[in-house]
Amino acid sequence: MAELSDSVSHMIDQLSRLPGIGRKSAERLAYHLLRVPESEAFALSDSIRSVRENVRYCDICFNLAESEMCNICRDPARDQTLICVVEQPRDLMALEQSGTYKGLYHVLLGRIAPLENIGPDQLTIDRLVGRIAEGTFAEVIMATNPTVEGDGTALHISNLLADDDVRLSRLARGITTGSVLEYTNKEILADALAGRQPL
Ligand SMILES: [Zn+2]
Repeated sequence: MAELSDSVSHMIDQLSRLPGIGRKSAERLAYHLLRVPESEAFALSDSIRSVRENVRYCDICFNLAESEMCNICRDPARDQTLICVVEQPRDLMALEQSGTYKGLYHVLLGRIAPLENIGPDQLTIDRLVGRIAEGTFAEVIMATNPTVEGDGTALHISNLLADDDVRLSRLARGITTGSVLEYTNKEILADALAGRQPL
């Protein structure tokens, strides 16, 4: 059994490195995975492998994609005149789940965070400015998180776009300051989108 214990304890180590998973939860998950049918355990490991091998960022908007373009950029039914700027793919998913937004997106892959030495150059801001400069968008909706850093990022971008012929708006403050988009329920997100304010 020594070998088995080694691999079990290795799995517990790996699981406990996941965010929000403490040692006890990792043990519970490990023993769960030992008990379920093999096919169920392999489905999980296969899905992890498949995501890491196949998923990349969309060349256009930096959403998660399985080819050069994500499903949203590829969809001709999306409103091509609206672009919504978010920090992370998971924020985009939260807005999609609100079910009311039908435009395009741009994912910054982070926010300007001087204390963590994350400047504008480390984000996809240049590509966003390039997309806006093409002149096809009528409105840019800033949907960065309502935090000091999210607001600062939105301000930085709106300054860069000041000379472009495009309307700038920001999600309404139905979202409590400091809360994070991905954890906001979809009704509040839908209200925030509907009540967006000019910048
Ligand atoms: Zn895309």
